[in-house]
Amino acid sequence: MDHPLRAPLEIEFDYTRSLGPVLSEFMTGLRDRRILGARGADGRVHAPPFEYDPVTAEPPGALTEVGSEGTVVSWSWMPEPLAGQPLAGAFAWALIRLDGADTAMLHAVDAGSATVMRTGLRVRARWAEDRVGSIRDIACFEPCSAVFAGADREPGSEGAVTMTVTPVRLSYLHTASPGESAYLRGLAERRLLAQRCGVCGQVYIPPRGTCPADGVPTREEVELPETGTVTTFCVVNVGYPGQRVTPPYVAAAVLLDGADIAFQHLVLGCSPDEVRMGLRVRAVWDEGSGGISHFAPTGEPDAVYESYARSL
Ligand SMILES: [Zn+2]
Repeated sequence: MDHPLRAPLEIEFDYTRSLGPVLSEFMTGLRDRRILGARGADGRVHAPPFEYDPVTAEPPGALTEVGSEGTVVSWSWMPEPLAGQPLAGAFAWALIRLDGADTAMLHAVDAGSATVMRTGLRVRARWAEDRVGSIRDIACFEPCSAVFAGADREPGSEGAVTMTVTPVRLSYLHTASPGESAYLRGLAERRLLAQRCGVCGQVYIPPRGTCPADGVPTREEVELPETGTVTTFCVVNVGYPGQRVTPPYVAAAVLLDGADIAFQHLVLGCSPDEVRMGLRVRAVWDEGSGGISHFAPTGEPDAVYESYARSL
């Protein structure tokens, strides 16, 4: 048997959200090299500020500035930083209680060596040269004994920071199951390879390896034609970053002839308002990747509802 296919996959997107009044003021302060905290009902100053008082659940009053120097309360050494972390070289994650605050904030400390780190170490903020209103406007903290290396510009006079963008990224190695591997190898040869359950006779594409109804392995391979029927569909009208097809376009569930389960694909080659349940379609192969680019209408009469009703 051929070995399973595997490939690195990467999922990434920018999570963009509004900050709300408290964090907006906090982030705007960072841009201006000021660290703000909130005084709670019990008199303690929280830095970063809370959005709702942990005791009374009330929003904070006017924020108060705390120091940009503080004391390490606790720390953990990061010998090999990961991509996207604050520093490229080894550093410490630390809880830092800033002067004037009663709570600690988490940030990176560029200590050079783990031997420098200790609870009680005095540290100060190293400001980023280009500040945009983000927690990363504090590039990191550094021991107060270090020679200051920052080149700060003067506080900006731009408007309040109201939005934040958090990049989200997941990298992993995907290993395809034997059935999925056969399916993918088939696509490269413009063949559509499904699997049939030996108990109920249902034909699954892409193959799942087991029948969800009977819980038995599906070992019989079945080659399906490249024609099928649209069972359901939606018209995509919303744009998003990285979109390859210009809206409006149709994403449909396509039931290949001989299959018992529909799979998702694009239906192009006609106006979105011509797509309907029962529309007969044929795969259009991608010249480059070898996979299916999309499905397009065949021009045949629509399939009768009863022929696909069971697969909705
Ligand atoms: Zn079955």
